[in-house]
Amino acid sequence: MIYDVLIIGGGAAGLTAALYASRAGLKTAVLEKSPGLGGQISSTSIIENWPGNQSMTGADFSQKLSEHAKKFGAQITTFAEVNDADLTSNPKKIKTSAGDFEGKTVIIATGAHEKKLGVPGEDEYKGRGVSYCSTCDAPFFQDKTVAVIGGGNSAFEEGIFISKFAKKVIIIHRRDEFRAEKIVVDGAKENEKIEFMTSKTVKEIKGNNSLEKLVLEDTKTGETSELNVDGVFIYVGMIPNTELFKGKINTDERGYIITNENMETNIPGVYAAGDVRKSPVKQLTTAASDGTISAVIAEKYISEKK
Ligand SMILES: Cc1cc2nc3c(=O)[nH]c(=O)nc-3n(C[C@H](O)[C@H](O)[C@H](O)COP(=O)(O)OP(=O)(O)OC[C@H]3O[C@@H](n4cnc5c(N)ncnc54)[C@H](O)[C@@H]3O)c2cc1C
Repeated sequence: MIYDVLIIGGGAAGLTAALYASRAGLKTAVLEKSPGLGGQISSTSIIENWPGNQSMTGADFSQKLSEHAKKFGAQITTFAEVNDADLTSNPKKIKTSAGDFEGKTVIIATGAHEKKLGVPGEDEYKGRGVSYCSTCDAPFFQDKTVAVIGGGNSAFEEGIFISKFAKKVIIIHRRDEFRAEKIVVDGAKENEKIEFMTSKTVKEIKGNNSLEKLVLEDTKTGETSELNVDGVFIYVGMIPNTELFKGKINTDERGYIITNENMETNIPGVYAAGDVRKSPVKQLTTAASDGTISAVIAEKYISEKK
């Protein structure tokens, strides 16, 4: 069978694209490598910024969105890891761990994953003090002391945002100098809630039920010390899930897929949506918006080809 739309990834972007494509009467398949749907958000304890729903769990959100996507007939296959793609052939050919699929169009919605520090305690305290998303989690640190790890724009911008909630924010960077733009660094320096620790790396994250302290190492002297904090936000980068498409599609230097405002990539009939694409904001609302646009434009592409 040749699908009208093959969607790679069953996160917020992919499921929204599936909802729009199947509701438009297109034969739609979602290929998701994990056992469950929802992507990054599925494990989040609370979402407070989905318009019209003041508070819900990530699991709830993912379940409702997958049911909604299925309602109009999208075929959803889990345990289907895409491991090869011929995006220029007609139809386009996608190989997965659950078999091969063919489609007139492909929407890439494979998302991204956090670059980790890779230290002991990081995975253990994720969601219990360790976070990679200030928009999502900063409100939980009202009047607390929080560390932000990183020296780029994200660390500074997020540190400033977190300072609206936390009583103290300590930006910790492994070098003497920050990568962030001067204007961003100056903004943080003017903020009396923000302090800086340079030439320090995190060696371990410790706690009991929740995170309590960071073990730091001075990169110049090798000396170790402990810092008591209630939370740590890690901004050492995200990694787009685009390894599979390397050399097959245009990306920026970090691997994010480049699209125009129609979510069109450099390959006709191939779109990218959500965190996988080069964009300034990566949230559920933007992922859903990208998914919507990609499905509507794919539908136009198919009808023009008829
Ligand atoms: C801890 C945390 C909390 C967050 N909280 C919020 C919040 O409160 N509000 C908010 O708006 N945003 C939040 N975000 C951001 C939000 O989760 C993302 O912007 C959104 O999930 C992006 O959706 P996506 O569909 O583009 O990608 P993803 O959610 O990353 O989904 C991509 C999907 O593609 C699948 N996939 C990847 N590679 C393959 C492959 N080769 N084959 C098949 N499938 C594949 C993955 O398994 C995944 O299911 C949070 C993020 C994190 C990490």
